[in-house]
Amino acid sequence: MKRLLYLEIFIFLIFTNACTIKKHEPVTRSDFLLNTIVELTLFEDEKTSEIMLSDMFTEIRDCENRYSRYISGSDIARINENIGVPVSVSKDTIDIIEKSIYFSEISNGLFDISIGALVDLWNINSDNPRIPQQHEVNAAIQDIDYKEIILDKENITVTLSKSGILIDTGAIAKGYITDRLVMYLKEKKVDSAILNLGGNLYLFGSKKDGSAWNIGIRNPFGYQGDYIGTVSVKNLSIVTSGIYERYFEADGIRYHHILNPMTGYPENNNLASVSIITESSTTADGLSTTTFLLGLKDGMALVEELDGVEAIMVTRDKKVYLSSGIKNGEMRFKLTNEEYTITK
Ligand code: ADP
Ligand code: MG
Repeated sequence: MKRLLYLEIFIFLIFTNACTIKKHEPVTRSDFLLNTIVELTLFEDEKTSEIMLSDMFTEIRDCENRYSRYISGSDIARINENIGVPVSVSKDTIDIIEKSIYFSEISNGLFDISIGALVDLWNINSDNPRIPQQHEVNAAIQDIDYKEIILDKENITVTLSKSGILIDTGAIAKGYITDRLVMYLKEKKVDSAILNLGGNLYLFGSKKDGSAWNIGIRNPFGYQGDYIGTVSVKNLSIVTSGIYERYFEADGIRYHHILNPMTGYPENNNLASVSIITESSTTADGLSTTTFLLGLKDGMALVEELDGVEAIMVTRDKKVYLSSGIKNGEMRFKLTNEEYTITK
């Protein structure tokens, strides 16, 4: 009897091993969406991966058609065009705006999705950015105020109560859409995937062998593919906001795309980049922009207040500041670039 039991256990072990050994090749698809390159990777069998990837790209396109102010007829475009009028939108559009307002509240308005007029003035995301005149900057910052965005959750409408205001979801949409893709992966019981929406990353689950993913943190002063170090994560999002993502240079000055609504200029503190690591990609995206604007001290203090949020902040003088969960080894970060030093 005992023997039989051993045999059974033995067979069970062989069987489970065979299951874990059976690995599928990664299936990756990419497309230019959300004004960036979106690359999604699944590890299911090829046919299943293809079907799921197709669903996920459709979801991204559908979301873009609701949240992009540049797509005519989108929820955000209709809100922007109908000042003073309650505009019916989808529930998730209310949700993304509500989450954006949360980041405005915790940053005293430094993060503000009603920043569209100022974004247009600088035009940094386009081929012809320009340094605006001071009087134009002064006028544009008058047109920023998240308190003028009125949400009616019962009737599912959004109203802009002041003319000149334009909503721009650029600082949070990629994270929010990523979380919707994560919901899909959970529904489909997928256990491993890599989502990359223009550098807005989600390392879903673990690698097939159960180990963590090692993710490079970009050198803000290097070229693409040049890293300062790597961080090991499982089932987490990593989002970076930095001075290198979109910018132009004039007279030796770099003008990047994260604008301070109080000054009307690209935020010029000592930070070169902020990477936020946490479970919600909406939070990671919202917070990376928010903490970048808050600066090293206040930004890091905010990260420390929040549960389950870690940060890697890189200053322009090439120092690396880590949040407590990384410092104490709960999350592993390895510095590989000798030009940088970790500050205690
Ligand atoms: P990326 O778009 O490279 O992921 P961010 O998430 O930091 O970077 O978002 C920057 C974008 O957010 C800008 O291109 C602009 O559309 C918008 N934006 C700029 N400044 C602000 C701000 N102070 N608050 C909210 N959104 C902003
Ligand atoms: Mg952001």
